[in-house]
Amino acid sequence: MTHTIAALATPPLSGAIGIIRVSGSRTPELLNAVFAENKRLPAESWKPRVMMMGKVLADGEALDAGMAVRMVAPYSYTGEDMAELFMHGSIPALRAVLEALYKAGAVPAKPGEFTKRAFLHGKLSLSQAEAVADLVSAETRDAARNAAGQLDGKVEKVFSAAYDALSGLIAQYYAAVDYPEEDIDGGTPAEALQGVLDSLEALLTTLGKGLLLREGLRCSILGKPNVGKSSLLNAFAGYERAIVSPYPGTTRDTLEETVSLGGVKLRLTDGAGIRDTRDTIEEAGVARARSAAESAELLFVVLDGSEELTKEDRAALDLARDRQSLVLINKSDLPQRMEREQLEAAFLHVIPVSAKTGDGLDSVDSTLRRLFDGGATLYDGSVLTNERQAGAIRRTMDAVRNALSGLRDGVTHDAVLAELERALASIGELTGRRVREEIIDEIFARFCVGK
Ligand code: GDP
Repeated sequence: MTHTIAALATPPLSGAIGIIRVSGSRTPELLNAVFAENKRLPAESWKPRVMMMGKVLADGEALDAGMAVRMVAPYSYTGEDMAELFMHGSIPALRAVLEALYKAGAVPAKPGEFTKRAFLHGKLSLSQAEAVADLVSAETRDAARNAAGQLDGKVEKVFSAAYDALSGLIAQYYAAVDYPEEDIDGGTPAEALQGVLDSLEALLTTLGKGLLLREGLRCSILGKPNVGKSSLLNAFAGYERAIVSPYPGTTRDTLEETVSLGGVKLRLTDGAGIRDTRDTIEEAGVARARSAAESAELLFVVLDGSEELTKEDRAALDLARDRQSLVLINKSDLPQRMEREQLEAAFLHVIPVSAKTGDGLDSVDSTLRRLFDGGATLYDGSVLTNERQAGAIRRTMDAVRNALSGLRDGVTHDAVLAELERALASIGELTGRRVREEIIDEIFARFCVGK
């Protein structure tokens, strides 16, 4: 019998409400230790999945008025007996209640342990459990929608179909090793394998978009001092407020700012090099800007439209030539002295903007949308975002290809079977039907406590 776990399910911040989760067979008894229902009904007698009002207790002392709900196995997130306790979001009070639960015999939940239990009880497949982590950490709406679709089983269906096809074939081989060319579901083994290959290939080709969705695009802002790079960075950050993590300390302590623009997640960095040329000799500054530009997938070159083009501007523009880049002529609110025609002849995307008034930011948005097909791809869960899954898909495809060429070359049944078994093992890592303990541990370690 596993122990009963408890943890705070909401972030450890003060807020309107705080939720404590409990899961395991001792749930009702533990709930009674920290919650007195208004009519004194013991948790064992509550109707499942009905909110009960009462007093929240710690060491017999009423700390808060709150609500509690009880779920009975297997009808819960984890598949075990579970409870959720809703209190006001007071950190000391929540902590006191957690302590009381631990004193009464609950064990602090490890990161992802609730979801891990859901997986172990067959409530979620492994790819669905991974989608939970993706959903929680999603930074754009597309990323959230895609994770939700995966949680709903969109990629899982592809994995399960491949798993079933392979295990069906393997069974067939074991049963009738002497007649490998006999029809299987109206087709030959080669057709069935090609079908598996095609479906996995189609999923794998979405990975590029998935990683863009998840990791975002590294984008460097180049330009000489005072053209308005920092102002633009702030303007972008403020343009679409659907941004980034609400917790401090993730990316904010560097010069990087993550913004969602044109449907893409951009990881904007101020191209340190050229900005610093006032303090260093110009050569060194440009060299550093060059290396910042080289590691970026997209460049914004910022110019001051109220001035004429200078040597430093040209240095920045040179770095952007032949690269995926946008030239932003800033300070469009001031009288313009910049030669736009010349720039437009050399660069595909030249956009007048004003960090001050916000003018032109919508053009930047729509240009990015066009460039990176923001909005065109349906992020409904059919886009692969997970490198672990991609790795297992590649290994599966590899083995399936070997099996196929083995079939074609007429190798022994045993040789084909060995490849099919290898393919099944790899795809089993995706569904979770054949997964090693350490892979499971690694996956759930990515989660936060309480999830
Ligand atoms: P950076 O050195 O390139 O990062 O430039 P800053 O963002 O620090 O801006 C330099 C100066 O230009 C500041 O005084 C800003 O207020 C001003 N500035 C930036 N963008 C605009 C703009 O669009 N219009 C106007 N009028 N001033 C701007």
